[in-house]
Amino acid sequence: MKSTGGLPRIGVLAIQGNFASHAEALTEAGADPIEVRKPGELAGLDGLILPGGESTTMLRFLEKLRFFDLLEEFCAEKPVFGTCAGAILLAREVRNPAQRSLGLLDAVVERNAYGRQIDSAILTAETSLPGGPLEMVFIRAPRILETGPAVEVLARRDGYAVLVRQGTLMAATFHPELSADRRVHRLFVGTMASPAPRK
Ligand code: GLN
Repeated sequence: MKSTGGLPRIGVLAIQGNFASHAEALTEAGADPIEVRKPGELAGLDGLILPGGESTTMLRFLEKLRFFDLLEEFCAEKPVFGTCAGAILLAREVRNPAQRSLGLLDAVVERNAYGRQIDSAILTAETSLPGGPLEMVFIRAPRILETGPAVEVLARRDGYAVLVRQGTLMAATFHPELSADRRVHRLFVGTMASPAPRK
């Protein structure tokens, strides 16, 4: 379903964390953002962003209202982009410690994987996205330890994947919404127009 303006309607899970900056980034990337606080609000959306924050806090909230099950159904079908805690929620396996996840992204993710000294950092590096180096803001970031064959790695930090795509799923261990560069959000909005299979 498209909004009257023809822009893709993309939900941002607004339980906790950095959802407002994602909404702003989506607007700038040519989408119509909708804050999602209740399971019923998933209806009619073209895609969804699971933002950063604290994945355990989000999980606790999601498990209360049967929100988790409905989210699982939504994410199995529609394009979803998870950033940081959102990437943890999407992963097939979570470590440090192990916790429940949606299990859609074929990846093993370790929470809070960078030591205390370097748990937050801003790096600028070349990625697979055209347009030159990309600023990447890491905040108590997880590390993607392994990815399956269907997962395309678009950017790395110290050899580990930090931006990945698996068909209509995307995940970043950094916070693209905190940089002025909108290439990552535009890439996600672009998946609405030409969805690729997840294999
Ligand atoms: N450390 C958080 C977690 O494990 C993620 C941090 C973030 O989203 N910025 O859930």
